[in-house]
Amino acid sequence: MNPFEQIQLHLGRAIHALELTGSAATLFREPQAVHEAELRVDTSLGATTFAAYRVQFNDARGPFKGGIRFHPAADRSEVSALAAAMAIKCAVVNIPFGGAKGGVAIDPKMYTAADLELVSRAYATTFAPFLGIDKDIPAPDVATDPQIMAWMLDAYEAAVGHKAPGMITGKPVALGGSEGRSSATADGGAFVLAAYLKEAGRSAASTRVAVQGFGNAGATMAKILFDAGYTVVAVSDSQGTLYAAQGLNPHLIFEIKRESGKVTAAVDSTSEALPVDAIFGVPCDVLIPAALDNAITEREAAAVSASVVLELANNPITPEADRLLFERGVGVIPDVLANAGGVTVSYFEWVQNRQQYYWSGGEVSEKLSRVMNAAYQHVTAVAKTRECSLREAAYFLGVSRIVEAAHWRGRL
Ligand code: NAD
Repeated sequence: MNPFEQIQLHLGRAIHALELTGSAATLFREPQAVHEAELRVDTSLGATTFAAYRVQFNDARGPFKGGIRFHPAADRSEVSALAAAMAIKCAVVNIPFGGAKGGVAIDPKMYTAADLELVSRAYATTFAPFLGIDKDIPAPDVATDPQIMAWMLDAYEAAVGHKAPGMITGKPVALGGSEGRSSATADGGAFVLAAYLKEAGRSAASTRVAVQGFGNAGATMAKILFDAGYTVVAVSDSQGTLYAAQGLNPHLIFEIKRESGKVTAAVDSTSEALPVDAIFGVPCDVLIPAALDNAITEREAAAVSASVVLELANNPITPEADRLLFERGVGVIPDVLANAGGVTVSYFEWVQNRQQYYWSGGEVSEKLSRVMNAAYQHVTAVAKTRECSLREAAYFLGVSRIVEAAHWRGRL
């Protein structure tokens, strides 16, 4: 099953539950537009062509919105699946955006910063006709960051001939980025986790957490949870897992990884370096996949000891593994809710760009908390009423809101 077929399963369940038929049901079968290009770039390794994508899934609720990832596996199916998830995610947190996603099939580790600048500029120039503050607003995703957003903004502005900071989010604060954007995905996930644990009558102090992936999302999440009093028992990256039953200090690991490139370089007499996949089976209460898609298949799901999995990554659990976890009674907080903090602060950034008036970090955090808690309450209310999983509830809510907007537009 390819990634787009996987997301169709989740959408299909919601369509069935909502008893949608005809054009309301077919709305979710295909993206509204798929833009593909070959980016030809003179890199330090020679002239190279990279496949690039911008998939615009649905804009019934507002301009298309979604990140751009640089990854060798980025292809039409993966980017389309992520674009569909963005449409649902924006609807779940009730922000006025549709869903889109971008990707470049590149292994960024093979290229210099100067190469990545050329690729970023080529992407923005090539797709400029389809992007814009009221059309489609990209943001960072896997292996892209504020610097890449800055290069893309600069190339886009050169292509259109005027300043347009609101055409992209996740850019540096100096170029109109928002305070709090770099930690927003993790902050949002932490708000959702706190709400979930409060309902379950658990405290941070009694909760052991394992975080898979130590990049933008994962490392920030580990640090936030550590600061909030959780015990972070394990973290991992593509090289290995670091585990300590009595807890790790993610701030220290972050510094060591910055120097050495791997979390296991932080191993000491109190911790153990384990293989990459060991992260899924370590004794803990909450497992947080924050790396790549389909990390948890049936094999990993069978090893999970946590009672809760919070999906900070997009699509980290295969449908078969999802079913297995459900059967085992493991609660899954789905990506379209758990990692929506990033796009929510991207929305705040876009609002600030529109009004050219900027908020403090405290204001951003307070507004994010309100949006995430409201979304959590809506999703759990649907789950209780319909006696379904949080994923089914989130898709139910997202699909119903998109259908309502499409209905008002006369698209159905
Ligand atoms: P990133 O590139 O900064 O980090 C990815 C991390 O995953 C790296 O530390 C890498 O070493 C690690 N990794 C790769 N393969 C691994 C493996 N097999 N085992 C363990 N770790 C592995 O990317 P990111 O921005 O942190 O994104 C991670 C996930 O979060 C993606 O699914 C992304 O779509 C999702 N997400 C990110 C944001 C955001 O704002 N950055 C927002 C929403 C969702």
